[in-house]
Amino acid sequence: MRASRHKNVPEDVYPLDEWRLVEKRFDLQYLGAAESLFAISNGYLGMRGTCDEGQPNVHSGTYVNGFHETWPIVYGEEAYGFAKEGQTIIDVPDAKVIKLYVDDEPFYLPTATVDNFERVLDMQNGTLDRELVWTHSSGQRVSIKSRRLVSFEHRHLAAIAYDITLLTSDAPVVIVSELARGSSTVTASKDPRIRQFGCEVLEPVVQRAGERRVVLGFQTKSSKMTLSSAVDHSIETDCAYNVETESDSSSGQVTFSIDATRGKRIRVVKYITYHSSRRPQADELCRRSDLVLDRAVHHGFEDLVQSQRRFLDDFWRRSDVVVEGYPEWQQTVRFNLFQICQATARAEGVGVPAKGLTGPGYEGHYFWDTEIYLFPFLAYTKPRIAKNLLKLRHDQLSHARQRARELNQRGALFPWRTISGTEASAYYAAGTAQYHINADIVYALRKYVEVSGDDEFLADVGAEILVETARLWLDLGFFGNQDGKFHINGVTGPDEYNTVVNNNLYTNLMARENLWYAVSTVSALRARSQTQFDALVRKTGLVADEIDDWQKAAEAMYIPYSDEDGIHPQDDAFLDKEEWDFSGTPAEKYPLLLHYHPLVIYRHRVIKQADVVLAMFLLGEEFSVEQKRRNFDFYDRLTTRDSSLSSSIESIVASEVGQQEKAVQYSIDSGLMDLADVARNVKDGCHIASMGGFWMTLVYGFAGLRDNGGLLRFTPRVPEQVGSLKFSLQIQAHRLEVNVSQKSATYLVRGDDPFTLQHEGEQIELAPDIAVTRPVTLPTAGDDQTN
Ligand code: BGC
Repeated sequence: MRASRHKNVPEDVYPLDEWRLVEKRFDLQYLGAAESLFAISNGYLGMRGTCDEGQPNVHSGTYVNGFHETWPIVYGEEAYGFAKEGQTIIDVPDAKVIKLYVDDEPFYLPTATVDNFERVLDMQNGTLDRELVWTHSSGQRVSIKSRRLVSFEHRHLAAIAYDITLLTSDAPVVIVSELARGSSTVTASKDPRIRQFGCEVLEPVVQRAGERRVVLGFQTKSSKMTLSSAVDHSIETDCAYNVETESDSSSGQVTFSIDATRGKRIRVVKYITYHSSRRPQADELCRRSDLVLDRAVHHGFEDLVQSQRRFLDDFWRRSDVVVEGYPEWQQTVRFNLFQICQATARAEGVGVPAKGLTGPGYEGHYFWDTEIYLFPFLAYTKPRIAKNLLKLRHDQLSHARQRARELNQRGALFPWRTISGTEASAYYAAGTAQYHINADIVYALRKYVEVSGDDEFLADVGAEILVETARLWLDLGFFGNQDGKFHINGVTGPDEYNTVVNNNLYTNLMARENLWYAVSTVSALRARSQTQFDALVRKTGLVADEIDDWQKAAEAMYIPYSDEDGIHPQDDAFLDKEEWDFSGTPAEKYPLLLHYHPLVIYRHRVIKQADVVLAMFLLGEEFSVEQKRRNFDFYDRLTTRDSSLSSSIESIVASEVGQQEKAVQYSIDSGLMDLADVARNVKDGCHIASMGGFWMTLVYGFAGLRDNGGLLRFTPRVPEQVGSLKFSLQIQAHRLEVNVSQKSATYLVRGDDPFTLQHEGEQIELAPDIAVTRPVTLPTAGDDQTN
């Protein structure tokens, strides 16, 4: 892990620490990257790790999940059914900024003389802390400390404590706390993955200022969403001071002018709140802001700090993965898990953007990233969040039905990328054509139900999604005249370098699972409860014949396989393509999508991200050991990993087929995707899917878990570089603790009842609170390790 880490990030600036991400020097070179890495969020509200003074920054970035502007997508050449409306998350008025003047000289980090600089993302305490000593041009030394947090407990609340102590002599100090409309406009970027709206799309509708408090309300120009943003302050000091509060229609500031005495700490605490709504109710949101601020000021900052710790103690108890003896891995593991926590903890009624709330990349959109890459972690550590995310998909089902109609299809088609539930992808070939999103959502539904045992949710909510997605598949595919097989043409699989293809292996296999799950769920519902079945019929207009048709389509599903090559082709045309000239492509031409026209990429045999290999992980039982090995070898060398979603999956399958060196390298790549800026774009936000993928490389890759069907089966393959792994999984009322090393695996179940699992094929019945240890059979290179 070390070696890669050094590639892009020097260790003297970012030293290792198991619980903290530490930055020892302010360096403009890492400005954008550090803003993403040091971002804090609770899944509803997110703030990039910009410096307290606001300047300089790459993206100032404060985001409220789901709060977006819409804009008409203008096509040079229109065609029927293209997505019409873009959706972009808004960089809302910035409340992070606190400016400092000592003796009228502003503190500006890039040019200031600074000692003892340290910035810490504290993953146990949930705070972003900065401290430094500034030597003023007069020789005065000033201690500056700040602590910033976005509350996990209070979804709408953030706070900053800002402490100043003059170390040399008395002097006038001015602290200006802003709620700034910001200067950002639509960011011009050559990278198609970035678009950003700032406050220019916000129309001011409420403006209030009181003593130390500023409250502003806005409405977006086009989406007509409303927002309130408000700040309040307290000050603790023995020095004389006065306060002035000003605001205009779209910004405000509170100025503390202090006659500061040497050695006496001055603390200003800033409480910040945002509320958003789809409805025109800015006044109401502003009233809510007042209530939140009243409460926050009353309880004080320390209360918030304590509640962060309580929340995170619980998070780590459920979610930590302990890597014994390897601090390099430990920090990486904790950073990734902490970011997932930040991206999801309070995602209620909203989804998880591809970058969480750490940056503008992918415009705040929700993709399949959540269902395939985050769901296993969420289902095993905090199923309530998984359930909320599924509920959101269900809430957006009417849009999905509507979208299916637009595409001349029955059932429902979920959007490839979205915030509001409508399709926001302007590029259909790598967007709408990814019909597999339907099956991905169903895969996640199944994972959630199997792990949590929440059959009620399956009946009340899941079944409706199953009926509509199964309908879509049946209508989209067709039974071939020649072979009678069920074919699905004109789709794009996960790999976006091969678009609009026939019979994408991943899609066909996942669609088959979708159909089967629909058949079994709906049939079981019919047998179990006439009332629930009738309710489903009312909601969907289901007729009994449909279930038989889904069954027939699933049974006849065409699964591409080449006898000649002994592999599963990614799609019907894949093996006929000319191979990409890898040796003639210099490193700076990656990712290919930024350097080659799509047509050039599409006509070659080259892969952006795991596709067949992903199917081999998700639906491993559909492949023999030998097929997995051959497929892995074949696709591994064609994969550019231009998507951050690739490495983790390849690591898991590499583990399984006995290629441990690759398994370790790909796991490291996914774990360090952001910390070492592997994809060189962390400045635009962290790669949340890759973080979920990294957890999977540990639990599914090295600990060798497979769980389709509900029974947990372990075939551990812990590499030497990792030492041992300790983690726990919540399965219904059972808490399973797993401790695996190269030599042995220990399983312990907490709860009242016994629990059954498999270790290397052996069935083990665990009695509560009694640990069972089994030796691990060491794989030799290329050994069969499939379970
Ligand atoms: C990947 C998609 C992914 C998206 C957002 C793209 O580069 O190809 O699979 O959903 O990024 O993370």
